[in-house]
Amino acid sequence: MIVYFIGTGGSEGIPAHLCTCETCNEARKLGFARRKPSTLAIITKNSKAVLFDVGTDVRDHLHIPLEAIFLTHWHHDHIYGLYKLRWIAQRTKLYAPKGNADDLMVHDPKNIEVNFIEAGDRLKVDSLKITALKLNHQIETLGYLIEEDDKAVALLYDSKGLPEETFEFLKKKHLRLAIMDGTYAPNIDDPYHSNIDESAEIGIKFADRVVLSHISHKNLPFLQLAEYVRKNYNGKVLVAYDGMLFYV
Ligand SMILES: [Zn+2]
Ligand SMILES: [Zn+2]
Ligand SMILES: [Zn+2]
Repeated sequence: MIVYFIGTGGSEGIPAHLCTCETCNEARKLGFARRKPSTLAIITKNSKAVLFDVGTDVRDHLHIPLEAIFLTHWHHDHIYGLYKLRWIAQRTKLYAPKGNADDLMVHDPKNIEVNFIEAGDRLKVDSLKITALKLNHQIETLGYLIEEDDKAVALLYDSKGLPEETFEFLKKKHLRLAIMDGTYAPNIDDPYHSNIDESAEIGIKFADRVVLSHISHKNLPFLQLAEYVRKNYNGKVLVAYDGMLFYV
């Protein structure tokens, strides 16, 4: 499978509009430091696409049929792009937790078929086996274990750390990649999101590589952040950027 990071930012994206912080100013100078809100695609071995969150308009990035769309949760930074995508010309299934479901998408979803799922549910989509996992966030939020043949990756944002049951479940798997909540800089303690050290320390216990995503402008500027994880985690932890690809 190919893991395609379309959007790797938090709610505000980077640069945040009119913000003059160091992280936003850097992103105005360096194109690779700009971030759209969370949007991830998996391209299967059969060249089919499955989307995980739609934080931005995906039509310029993925103009092919979607086997399915999964939402981690209904916070707006994970669904902004759905309002446009619902006019898609082919009927498309969407799977999401029930908590805080968006009124417009529930009552007027156009060509999107909304299905509610919960932690523990397993679905087969093309060559992928997808398991919904419980996360620790402000509203009901699902992570996903995504398996194809003997390869596995996990998508684990938005979350403050991980619930014990999710951690124990993932420890039994051999993950190539854990895509984790990198909202905040080291030492920032937030009840609903992780800082990069919290996520890195958990993720390296069950994955070959940790990729930090969902990165806010309150985090370090890109170059400092990349240097920080390189020094502290020996290449096992990487900072995602919009357009990043992994062949798993
Ligand atoms: Zn978010
Ligand atoms: Zn800023
Ligand atoms: Zn959220």
